[in-house]
Amino acid sequence: MEPAGAPPQGCAPAREAEEPPGSPALPAEEPPGEGALPAATGRERGRGCRGAGPQGPPERAARGRGRWAPGRRGGEEGARDGRRPRVTVDSSKAKTSLEALKISLRQLRWREFPFGRRLPCDIYWHGVSFHDNDIFSGQVNKFPGMTEMVRKITLSRAVRTMQDLFPLEYNFYPRSWILPEEFPLFVAEVRMMKDSDPSWKPTFIVKPDGGCQGDGIYLIKDPSDIRLAGSIQSRPAVVQEYICKPLLVDKLKFDIRLYVLLKSLEPLEIYIAKDGLSRFCTEPYQEPTLKNLHQVFMHLTNYSLNIHSGNFIHSDNANTGSKRTFSSILCKLSSRGADVKKLWSDIISLVIKTIIALTPELKVYYQSDIPAGKPGPTCFQILGFDILLLKNLKPMLLEVNANPSMRIEHEQELSPGVFENVPSPVDEEVKVAVIRDTLRLVDPQKKKRKDTQNCKLSNSNFSMASVDILYIDITRRWNSMGIDHKESGMCLQAFVEAFFCLAQKKYKSLPLHEQVASLIDFCEDHLAALDERRLVCGRGLVERRNAVVPCQSDGLPLTPAAHAPLLHRTATSSKFTDYRSHRC
Ligand code: ADP
Repeated sequence: MEPAGAPPQGCAPAREAEEPPGSPALPAEEPPGEGALPAATGRERGRGCRGAGPQGPPERAARGRGRWAPGRRGGEEGARDGRRPRVTVDSSKAKTSLEALKISLRQLRWREFPFGRRLPCDIYWHGVSFHDNDIFSGQVNKFPGMTEMVRKITLSRAVRTMQDLFPLEYNFYPRSWILPEEFPLFVAEVRMMKDSDPSWKPTFIVKPDGGCQGDGIYLIKDPSDIRLAGSIQSRPAVVQEYICKPLLVDKLKFDIRLYVLLKSLEPLEIYIAKDGLSRFCTEPYQEPTLKNLHQVFMHLTNYSLNIHSGNFIHSDNANTGSKRTFSSILCKLSSRGADVKKLWSDIISLVIKTIIALTPELKVYYQSDIPAGKPGPTCFQILGFDILLLKNLKPMLLEVNANPSMRIEHEQELSPGVFENVPSPVDEEVKVAVIRDTLRLVDPQKKKRKDTQNCKLSNSNFSMASVDILYIDITRRWNSMGIDHKESGMCLQAFVEAFFCLAQKKYKSLPLHEQVASLIDFCEDHLAALDERRLVCGRGLVERRNAVVPCQSDGLPLTPAAHAPLLHRTATSSKFTDYRSHRC
């Protein structure tokens, strides 16, 4: 991702960080016919632009087709002749993620409705927020309140609450103060710290709330350098300790944009994409001094700022240039002997803890927009985590983007004022995979298949139908006893009764304690086999990716990480790694 700073006057804004609300929607296209190849998608854009479509590498089309057996057909025909109907996706509000979404949908052979649909769709893909459309069913790719929750001030508050409770667990976020209300506290704390350690020569970074792309950001050496009190009042901001010793690659500061899928809040399900982007500064880094404090190309990694530097290197190679894949950085670090497994596990921990900090308020937003029992869609969301690595490889959270840019092209100035859209293979490689795997993970048909999956409890003594009846009977009986339990489904006592009942039916001839023990063993074996299957799928994928990106497995742990006691974690068959607090 490339958070973009305020572009110099007269330059086209490059959107690579958070998509600012209200960015113009791209015109939608007719859905492709069966077997259609990715079409050219260039289009005219403002200021005398000459559209040039990102044709994409030829193997993209081949890959897309190769996933399916010849002659396979989906759609309504599929439904009529007994095969699965295709998943339907409303892309009419997708805005700048449209191109990457279209490619993903073609690869999956799902059905796109670029102008919306009168009948409900399975999935609604919004470019900005939950409220882009009124939706009462299906799934939407935004949570209500997410944009508000990840604004700089709200995020700082949420993380700070957790820092107060668990200072060691949350030491991945720089010390921050909220302006203007905490300005006196900021002054006092800095004075106190300087008094206790006269050798401490800090730098601070001031970031306007709600800003993106580096907009309005500046560095200071002393609280008294904060610009005009009047402007603080009109534009609240976060002031943060500046990380002076970041890890450098090729003598340049860089940050990491990682894509995280929040698949569900209840239960909490988090997936982390196995590859992301690294955005590079374009001037060699030096620790901040009064002289270099204003050199944005040295201190700010925003793509939209650095693209205007004469030193910006566009590269189609994921290992070079000013924007690279994160996996290429991991590879480089690994070749230098760095412990990238530990790094990856620290990143995972940072992501999970950040989402945990946001969860309570997100649930409040969720319940107010989609009250329990009222019709409404379920939500998922791709978040962009911006992370800086310290010299010792400790990851530090800079910010979270609710609408990370999913653009797979960038604008190139051919002659003054004339721009062309140029495909960006690095963006396409990472972002299409993120969207496609997100869709796979939220596939409503997969969910239906999973819901109806037979857990093989039945045998010749009893059928699955009789298990269902048992479940309904016992749940109803315990619920009618007026026992106060908030969760849907069975209370614990009812579960125990049902479990004993099933054990007696399944293992007729044994004494009760052996029946129960046998059923526990049976369930545990079944769950372990499920885990194993998932793990094998995940590994298969890592191996396949290895063919493309050597050393990839270094960065893509599929085994439990250091945070394992905090949350359960299982591997999935996608390029996401799955972290969830509950496992069914
Ligand atoms: P924006 O949303 O405007 O991009 P960020 O919080 O991402 O704002 O900050 C912009 C850039 O400033 C980052 O990409 C990073 O390079 C730099 N930066 C932000 N916070 C810090 C910090 N605490 N220490 C060092 N660099 C920082």
